[in-house]
Amino acid sequence: MQEQSDFTFQSERFADIQLLRYQVPGFQELNLRQKLFIYHLSRAALLGRDILWDQNGAHNLRIRQVLETIYTQYQGDRNTEDFQQFTTYLKRVWFSNGIHHHYGYQKFTPGFSQQFFMDAAKELGLDVKDLLPIIFDPSVLSKRVNQAEGADLLLTSASNYYQDGITQAKAEEFYARQKAEGDSLRPVMYGMNSRLEKRPDGTLYENIWRSGGLYGPIIDRIIAALRDALPYAENPKQQTVIEKLIEFYQTGDLKTFDEYTILWVQDTESQVDFTNGFTEVYGDPLGLKASWEGYVNFVDPVATRRSQALSDNAQWFEDHSPIDPRFRKKECKGVSAKVINAAILGGDLYPSSAIGINLPNSNWVRAEYGSKSVTIGNLTHAYAQAAKGSGLRQEFVIDPQTIELLDKYDNICDDLHTDLHECLGHGSGQLLPGIDPDALKAYGSTIEEARADLFGLYYLADEKLVELGLTPNAEAYKAQYYSYLMNGVLTQLVRIEKGDQIEEAHMRNRALIARWTLKNYPQAAQLIEKDGKHYIQVHSYPMLRTAFATLLAEIQRIKSEGDLAAARQLVEEFGVQVDKDLHQEVLERYKKLNISPYKGFINPQYELVYDANGNVTDVEIRYGESYDHQMLRYGKF
Ligand code: ZN
Repeated sequence: MQEQSDFTFQSERFADIQLLRYQVPGFQELNLRQKLFIYHLSRAALLGRDILWDQNGAHNLRIRQVLETIYTQYQGDRNTEDFQQFTTYLKRVWFSNGIHHHYGYQKFTPGFSQQFFMDAAKELGLDVKDLLPIIFDPSVLSKRVNQAEGADLLLTSASNYYQDGITQAKAEEFYARQKAEGDSLRPVMYGMNSRLEKRPDGTLYENIWRSGGLYGPIIDRIIAALRDALPYAENPKQQTVIEKLIEFYQTGDLKTFDEYTILWVQDTESQVDFTNGFTEVYGDPLGLKASWEGYVNFVDPVATRRSQALSDNAQWFEDHSPIDPRFRKKECKGVSAKVINAAILGGDLYPSSAIGINLPNSNWVRAEYGSKSVTIGNLTHAYAQAAKGSGLRQEFVIDPQTIELLDKYDNICDDLHTDLHECLGHGSGQLLPGIDPDALKAYGSTIEEARADLFGLYYLADEKLVELGLTPNAEAYKAQYYSYLMNGVLTQLVRIEKGDQIEEAHMRNRALIARWTLKNYPQAAQLIEKDGKHYIQVHSYPMLRTAFATLLAEIQRIKSEGDLAAARQLVEEFGVQVDKDLHQEVLERYKKLNISPYKGFINPQYELVYDANGNVTDVEIRYGESYDHQMLRYGKF
């Protein structure tokens, strides 16, 4: 179990950004060799940052240097509107790895005056005249990636993948020729690792990103960090993966890159995994050039053990399920899920990150060798927690005692409910002989999700979980019971547009369970109104468990017997309709919380721990670093 009480997921906010911290559960449990492997791979993941900044725009690195110098050395009054606006601008530039918005690609408009900028720079002896139009003139380099139909996408995009003046037509012709001359069955990722440039005579050539080429010094440092990681690889296969990646960084040969991705996709046993290199092509309007990213993940031993404990006891849970014994499975196997956590985010995955990653991108490699797909558990978790900590609880939970209950136990119970749902819920129960598995038609998935959720809710309150060490005590489940009802009846409505019904199966199932319970067990819980706002009020948690058991028995019966009419009736009555007035009220209450539309992450820090003789004895993980401190540190990394 993770102790999470002194950890805060939310960090600072500015402009349209909310920064979050993510925890790395399970890191402490790894052995020293694995920790050192992650330590060195993490360094490799952070070292390529400046490559990305330069890819995003030719002036980004210089602008960053000027902004950071002013930020750290400015002697004037830091409380003026100009300096405050300057700080916000720098934070936005840090967040976007350049002067354009990370998502919308438009150039930022500075909120400070040009005069302030010139004066501040002059005092510190910086010559910034050439940067003025780049920062202040909205018509210069206005968009990083322009996708507008009809324009020359290269001439109108500020990203730095093609030398100034190279037209879209010329670049497309260049790569059409490469493709025509290459292997059409197993094509390499043409253009992926180079900047397209012009010779004096006007002919085009690729300036390759490799050791000795463009970004050579940075790439050499990445290679050195990968070499440091090499001795700690978990098995010879993984060692070969890293060696191949180093070879690719040295030669820039795209055939070597394909060999590397094939080796990487075939390594499915290692607990620690990573990506490091030129990966996604969203930043190139032609979709060829890959931005640099780095990322390290590992299988979370604690969460994996948790799901193992459940699946080891699958038969016990099945035998004690509150359903008609005819519908119980005689032999029940749980599913043991592999939970992945990110250890570090770098390059184009930092600070804004994907929460799921599916690689490689080469179509023929995917077709012939498959791909690896992961959902990053600790990032998903941080998003979920931040959503809850955004004032949502204060607004929607009925009283301070219940808020405290949720603050204390909801993290643990949320994870556990997901595990029960995935590892046991879906796999439990059986159809009666001869029943068509698709008998419930369009209602099938909502009923199936409700079944798995109810299985989880029912067992969350069971002493067996305390006995297995999965819940801290016999009270903890109450947090999940409350938040489940609150979400099903109230807060999930914020994801629905005004006037719409509930469509998505998971949302329908949550509404179904919560609203069925309120209607049929008013002695357990009710929706009440207080000062014009609606809240869930729980009268009896044990009674709620009885309600969930009763509904689980009925839902299992519907599934086992293929009772379409009953499924339709339940889903249509409780899972679909939205009360217009209540919806309107929830949307208004949510809007007042003023939640940032974009989120990103602050990384943890890894530090080596030495004994008196200078031997490394441990790798420590720290979470407290501030956003600006981390950014300035990475600038000198
Ligand atoms: Zn499910």
